[in-house]
Amino acid sequence: MASRALKNPYKDYDGTPACAQGLFDDKGRVRSLQPAPLTSDFIGRLRAKVTELLSQMENGLRSADPRDCSGYTGWAGIALLYLHLDSVFGESSFLQRALDHVSRSLQCLTRRTVTFLCGDSGPLAVAAVVYHRLGRSQEAEECLGRLLQMHESVVKGKGNLPDELLYGRVGYLYSLIFINQQFGHEKVPSQYIQQICEAVLASGENLSRKRQTQEQTPLLYEWYQEYYVGAAHGLAGIYYFLMQPGFGVGEERRLRLVKPSVDYVQRLKFPSGNYPPCIGDSRDLLVHWCHGSPGVIHMLLQAHKVYGGDGYLGDALQCGEVIWTWGLLQKGYGLCHGAAGNAYAFLALYKATGDLKHLYRACKFAEWCMDYGKHGCRTPDTPFSLFEGMAGTVYFLADLTQPLRSKFPAYEI
Ligand SMILES: [Zn+2]
Repeated sequence: MASRALKNPYKDYDGTPACAQGLFDDKGRVRSLQPAPLTSDFIGRLRAKVTELLSQMENGLRSADPRDCSGYTGWAGIALLYLHLDSVFGESSFLQRALDHVSRSLQCLTRRTVTFLCGDSGPLAVAAVVYHRLGRSQEAEECLGRLLQMHESVVKGKGNLPDELLYGRVGYLYSLIFINQQFGHEKVPSQYIQQICEAVLASGENLSRKRQTQEQTPLLYEWYQEYYVGAAHGLAGIYYFLMQPGFGVGEERRLRLVKPSVDYVQRLKFPSGNYPPCIGDSRDLLVHWCHGSPGVIHMLLQAHKVYGGDGYLGDALQCGEVIWTWGLLQKGYGLCHGAAGNAYAFLALYKATGDLKHLYRACKFAEWCMDYGKHGCRTPDTPFSLFEGMAGTVYFLADLTQPLRSKFPAYEI
């Protein structure tokens, strides 16, 4: 892990007002959830950095791939960023920018991939929400109709569809959830969501039976003949969705199928507290949202919420320590495998525990991100995109201004 990270230069939180000076308003209080105690000065710095990076990003996007519609590296991701900025800062110019970018995205759909991040359901879902906010309900309905047309083929798993987040069923499922969250009511009927979960459960039981792993893990999933563990391609990302209340999995199966499968992932923990990219991989190298503790932590915290006990929370806290030590990456400042994505783990811990230590750590990672480009990090292939590049960093910096409402985009429910 040390070889992939840059040394964390920051002093850790010690609970004293002096240590969080300039960050927290509320001196002396150890636990606080409402309101989040960031100083107006720090929020002003975040806001100014958002403006500065946005103009760099817009310049950089002039040379971006004009045919990439995706949320992960393409136009839908930029549209999602602007939609988020509209939510956080309430400026109508952001919504207009979201419309511009999502329109480009709709012109170059893949017609192949179904997920929110890498396929067509992301552009359609983001467009539906943008049109809805603009009061253009007919266009919103049209996008929604096209999104739901994909549903049947996702349930059936046409073309050997996997189940993971980036290319599989739960990546399509996220699009439906996104619509319901953004519309503020059950715009997509719950049976659509339940049917996807049924298909995911059946697929996981089937593979577990085939590989005879029912005793260890009654659900099992693969992607390209590997059993991935992390949030992007693996088990932790899938189980995070299967543990959500209201998705139609039901208590009985949450206990009989999902819990032992979550516990199996929990047992894959390295001595460091980090998690392997794949089952059987003994190299403890990656501290990314896509592979490793920054993605697995969301599964652990959801398990803590649903099943209780101390074990899940303890392991999630251990993830926090790993990320604090090894989470400033040479790969840069992005969401998928960068400092911004890793900082969302601290925000998740803060939301779960109310402990200001985690908010402090998120602020320190934000300070690192605000020194964008000054650490000699590698430049990603798509340097301005949402999941690899600058747009993701901007998304995180904006989210930090309202930490209790923050959510890792395209993943956290
Ligand atoms: Zn990644």
